[in-house]
Amino acid sequence: MTTLTFSQKPPTQPHIFIGKGSRDYNPFCVGTAEENLGRFRKYFFERVSFDREYAKRIESFRNKLLWCNCGNVVMCHGMVYLEYLGKDKS
Ligand SMILES: [Zn+2]
Repeated sequence: MTTLTFSQKPPTQPHIFIGKGSRDYNPFCVGTAEENLGRFRKYFFERVSFDREYAKRIESFRNKLLWCNCGNVVMCHGMVYLEYLGKDKS
């Protein structure tokens, strides 16, 4: 089961960092949280459908703990990864 945690400090368990400063952070950051999430969602589902390397990378998130420090537990881009990987949330 892929899970997402929002702690401000890194989790003590093994995890993949998808927060600010990571290559897997949301590249859309100029709009409102809702707009940024919407743009990311569109970008993500398009890219993952044709970019096989990207799809493989996202596949490597499966059954891992993802950590995002964005502080927005309602509009985090990490939820798009969870949605893609199968709707598990923590
Ligand atoms: Zn986040």
